[in-house]
Amino acid sequence: MIERAAFHSLSYGLYLVTALSADGRKVGCVANTFQQVASEPPMVSISLNKANATTQAILDTGRFGVSVLGQSATMELIGLFGFQSSADVDKFQNIEYEVNPANLPQVLANCVAKFAVDVRERVDAGTHFVFVGSVTEACTVSDEKPMTYAYYHEVLRGKTPPKAASYVNEDAEAGNAAELADGRSEAEAVRELVSDQPELAPKYGWRCKLCGYIEMMDELPDDYTCPICGAGKEMFERIEL
Ligand code: FE
Repeated sequence: MIERAAFHSLSYGLYLVTALSADGRKVGCVANTFQQVASEPPMVSISLNKANATTQAILDTGRFGVSVLGQSATMELIGLFGFQSSADVDKFQNIEYEVNPANLPQVLANCVAKFAVDVRERVDAGTHFVFVGSVTEACTVSDEKPMTYAYYHEVLRGKTPPKAASYVNEDAEAGNAAELADGRSEAEAVRELVSDQPELAPKYGWRCKLCGYIEMMDELPDDYTCPICGAGKEMFERIEL
């Protein structure tokens, strides 16, 4: 028996994984599967979807960076790295980052610590590769609290990107897309957000079916795209407020 609920009891952090592609582009994605696996010498592992541009860059170059997200990280930053593809956008264009002596881009924005890793082993895990590597650099960036995956889901109301190792089709599984982790309906949550400006409150909101972002307006323009994941208007469903 495989009980999906058992997987929900696992704890994770939230990380930005970065690399330099073979053709010299800075690429990166979000992962929740970074962990230390040995201490002397320090070894770590990460599981990444084979379809990610970042995965290909790590396969090509044998090294990657990991920035530990703090609780100040915004949905915009997580959405940029988690729901958009480095093949389509330069994710580093408007964020704070640095390039280390090994030419590895490392995100500093909203991060608690950063690591540089040289890959030693690669395990084929079906949809994902697990990279095991040795830590060549580990630095504290700020003293804020690291973001846990639970915080991302419960406080930021974030969704799991389809390519994540822990992705499950939550809508199909729960049979109810409109209920949040804390039991409130999305409409209730939106009403709360606009409760101090009732005269400005629209009658409808629009929920992105891909990332969960809610836009509060009565009609979406035809050329509307989700500010978090870049999905078009057709990916939005209307919710009554
Ligand atoms: Fe979205």
